[in-house]
Amino acid sequence: MKPFVLQQSVINQQVIVVGNSYLIELEIKREDEIHSIISGNKYRKLKYNLIAAKNEEKNVLLTFGGAFSNHIAATASVGKAFGFKTIGIIRGEELKDKIEGNSTLSYAKQCGMTFKFISRTDFKKKGDSYFIETLKNEFGDFYLIPEGGTNALAIKGCEEILTEGDSDFNYVCAPVGTGGTLAGLINCSKPSQQVLGFSALKGDFLKQDISKFAIKNNWELITDYHFGGYAKINSELITFINQFKKQNNIQLDPVYTGKMMFGIFDLIKKGFFPKGSKILAIHTGGIQGIQGMNTLLKKRQLPLIQ
Ligand SMILES: *Cc1c(COP(=O)(O)O)cnc(C)c1O
Repeated sequence: MKPFVLQQSVINQQVIVVGNSYLIELEIKREDEIHSIISGNKYRKLKYNLIAAKNEEKNVLLTFGGAFSNHIAATASVGKAFGFKTIGIIRGEELKDKIEGNSTLSYAKQCGMTFKFISRTDFKKKGDSYFIETLKNEFGDFYLIPEGGTNALAIKGCEEILTEGDSDFNYVCAPVGTGGTLAGLINCSKPSQQVLGFSALKGDFLKQDISKFAIKNNWELITDYHFGGYAKINSELITFINQFKKQNNIQLDPVYTGKMMFGIFDLIKKGFFPKGSKILAIHTGGIQGIQGMNTLLKKRQLPLIQ
């Protein structure tokens, strides 16, 4: 068995942001640089799950996701790297014959992932034990990782994102999908720090989901920057992402980190952060999804992410 290469050192990169009348110190934790595919929070969320799977002597990982899912790509990639078979239960039967046209799925397939495409209605049953049983009948025994990878072990992994050197930041910002990453950040933050989650989707359930795993109350969910919902984007966001890259040489993704950074910049402009604030934004990765998004943008004749 190959050893796990699991502890990565991640740098914080400084970005200059000018607010209305004062400078704000903003640093970006480059979790995106952990690996080109197994990057950011998906790496953090899988880490202890992989160790648990090995300990339980399971060599098959089964998980759920949409066709552009960073989690599907990361699971397929770790499976290949660490010797697990992987099964992806994919939302939407219509994609069955379109694997080649989808960069995430074709990458996952190259890594050896087996797919099962199910209807959106069936996909909603992904948490039901009888549905899991039918999957066990079909595929045999497996280690189950929920959609988006969020479970207690995933949160444990995300509790390692912040280090002692980060204690001086007043704010820690991260994008929110299921809220697992934010919960991990809350749990490892200092009581003096405020943790801000930027919701990447419309979802009133998120606050409750985060509360389930968060052990502190020093956090807030910001819901003004989801751009209409999950993976919904417009040319304003694309322009922002492209400009941000030009200025800082950091690629943001359109689904999560782009929306968060747009939100942080907007809040800085509006004077949300008091003078002297030090902000740490977590770059949670997600770069693999850009190619798939650009395919869609091209079809809709929108500007592309550069
Ligand atoms: C999945 C993902 C998120 C959301 O993480 P949650 O733990 O589900 O909230 C944020 N950023 C990126 C890049 C992701 O891939």
